[in-house]
Amino acid sequence: MTIRTAGIHHITAFVQNAQATVDFYSGLLGLRLVKKTINFDAPEVYHLYFGDEAGTPGTIITFFPFAGSRKGRIGGGQVGITTYAIPPGTTSFWKERFDKLQAAYTETQRFSETYLHLQDPDGLLVELVEREEGALSTWSFGGVPADKAIKGFGGAVLYSTAPEKTAPLLERVMGLERVGEADGFIRYRSYGEIGNIIDLNASPMEHGHGGAGTVHHIAWRAKDDRQHNEWREEVARHGYQPTPIIDRQYFNAIYFREAGGLLFEIATDPPGFARDEHPDELGEKLMLPDWYEPHRARIQTNLGPIEVRVLEGDHA
Ligand code: ZN
Repeated sequence: MTIRTAGIHHITAFVQNAQATVDFYSGLLGLRLVKKTINFDAPEVYHLYFGDEAGTPGTIITFFPFAGSRKGRIGGGQVGITTYAIPPGTTSFWKERFDKLQAAYTETQRFSETYLHLQDPDGLLVELVEREEGALSTWSFGGVPADKAIKGFGGAVLYSTAPEKTAPLLERVMGLERVGEADGFIRYRSYGEIGNIIDLNASPMEHGHGGAGTVHHIAWRAKDDRQHNEWREEVARHGYQPTPIIDRQYFNAIYFREAGGLLFEIATDPPGFARDEHPDELGEKLMLPDWYEPHRARIQTNLGPIEVRVLEGDHA
């Protein structure tokens, strides 16, 4: 029996400024900061997770803010655009919000859908699109009430250097269904209700450069540890070279580079972000894995403070 992913688990990107990232994803977009921790491989850098109220898989975007790091260039081998799903009928709300808070956006079309397209402070491309699927958010922040809030990922636009190789990976290994081709993109759908629409460039795209303002990897959902093990075997059987299973505290992960240059991760749904914090207090405290606890004071001083805050000119 073949296994299929429900869709995107999370997307991880590099940025420069932690506070500017918080102001954009929480302040402007209204997402919840669900986890404030560090890069486990580089404890001088935050690892910030934003999502819905619980940080449900399919809603999570994560950032490593490296102050003064080199800027990257968006291109082949990366997630090009991160797509967020908003409830039907709320595009005008979001346009007014972006106007009010002086966030520049353009309106674009793909597969007959209208997207509000904007850039985050580091130049990452983000778009909002109305989708029927996916449960309404239960989280409100600033001037974003829960019934108009982002529900989670609508999906992502993948930029591949070799889409003829990425396409069969998405279909035969990840288990997505090809549902159409238009506007230079092939569209795929997973069986989940969120993070489920993946657009892949139909013609090869030139390699981008990693760095600030680019996505580092996209993670796909495995429903549990048992299925995660099966994924690892499945990926290897298709000729990819997955890493060993790595404990990321809030999920287990494997990574592999696909032939179109993208770094894929497969991550387990459990245990989730309430593993080490009460669900009502997610993201409030700096969380460290046990092996860094003895160094908390120094780590905290190095990181400097960040604050989730309502933007000036915003109101509930
Ligand atoms: Zn990841």
